[in-house]
Amino acid sequence: MINSVLYYSTNLQTKPVTFREALLQGLASDRGLYMPKKIPPISANEIQMFSDMPYYEIAFTVLRKFLHEQIPDKTLMALAQDAYDFSIPLEQVYEGKYVMRLDHGPTASFKDFAARMMGRMMQYFLKQENRSLLILTATSGDTGSAIANAFYGLENIHVVVLFPEKEVSARQRKQMTTLGQNTQIIALDGKFDDCQAFVKRAFADPELTTLNLSSANSINVGRLLPQSVYYFYAFSRLAKNKSTIFSVPSGNFGDMMGGLLAMKMGLPVKKFIIATNENDAFPKFMQTGTYKIIVPSINCISSAMNVGHPSNMSRVFALYGGVMDEKGNVLTPPHQELMRKEIYSTSVTNDETRETIKEAFDKHRLLLEPHGAVAWTGLQRYLEENKTDDTKDQVCVTLETAHPAKFPEQIREILSVDPELPDSLAEVEKKQEAFVKMGNNYEDFREFLKRQY
Ligand SMILES: *Cc1c(COP(=O)(O)O)cnc(C)c1O
Repeated sequence: MINSVLYYSTNLQTKPVTFREALLQGLASDRGLYMPKKIPPISANEIQMFSDMPYYEIAFTVLRKFLHEQIPDKTLMALAQDAYDFSIPLEQVYEGKYVMRLDHGPTASFKDFAARMMGRMMQYFLKQENRSLLILTATSGDTGSAIANAFYGLENIHVVVLFPEKEVSARQRKQMTTLGQNTQIIALDGKFDDCQAFVKRAFADPELTTLNLSSANSINVGRLLPQSVYYFYAFSRLAKNKSTIFSVPSGNFGDMMGGLLAMKMGLPVKKFIIATNENDAFPKFMQTGTYKIIVPSINCISSAMNVGHPSNMSRVFALYGGVMDEKGNVLTPPHQELMRKEIYSTSVTNDETRETIKEAFDKHRLLLEPHGAVAWTGLQRYLEENKTDDTKDQVCVTLETAHPAKFPEQIREILSVDPELPDSLAEVEKKQEAFVKMGNNYEDFREFLKRQY
């Protein structure tokens, strides 16, 4: 145990736990989020070696540092190799500027990266202990399908996914509702925030303790850690020794938190551009120093980022020495000067998102969907305001988090082209859907879970 990284709750009311416990619990008992007590350093030498490694080996090397001795090396390597069997294109847009396409996994979303690794790590521990879990997850679109797909068919695990009926595209829905088996999908007559609130309540609900609930939302530390790996990967392929600028489209801030962890481990990052849609609680905080959640959240075309209070915000605060409770109250302010030095945050409107999709395609033949377009807009804005960084030598990487074919209506409307469907999405179109509809009432949801499991 001496060498192992322990995980503490951002609410600071419980004892630190091991990775295994944090992974299987999801949320801490004081409703805080687990964070590594110590960020394990990764040396410049090790990072150098990444340029010759396949993705899964980089994943192994990075993750190993966070869960040292909890999963044997050979097993962890095998899990990573099994999880990461798809490509990660780095598309050059113009000199020094790249789009990293994280959309080549089975559900064509970057969430595959985290969900697949987390699923495999959970399966490892559950098998060891011969017990089972009920994974409860709220989704604004892509999480649900990534989770359901990542856990589909596993024996020790049931999955229940809640999604806001009117905020999820038909294609996103079909990726969850056509699986069956150990997956149960619920369409809620409400917003994503309601779904998320139901999940949080269920975890704290004494009537549901026998169900052995666990979360797979971006609040789970097992989701968080794998999301630091692709930053190392991009650096190893593009930047070599140059400090890199990353632009991350952000909703619940799990993706960018992975990036911040990579930086704190030692990845040379010049700036993190954190781009949100019109749900601008964080960019506003960076400007004003006051954090104010947005209720209700604003419906934007980058639908997976329609989050009024990002669930990872307390982790971001914790990383900079602050304390925020789960409701968004700031108990101790973070080190804002340091935050501003490392992070540039900006909010992008729907109109700007559409303009960017059009301009990127016309000017560069770059095909973006709404989430990636928010990040690309953020990068353009940053470079306009920071001309000294606008050179061809400065490596900048924007994350594209979903495949454009997941948003065919918008792409057609803006560009008059039909994005080509990847095979994984094409197959789903033909399958039969099955899901439960539910009103916006927590008691109904509780009864449903008690009846079913
Ligand atoms: C979930 C999601 C995001 C936001 O990621 P967070 O980790 O919640 O900030 C961005 N784009 C797409 C396509 C997503 O599915």
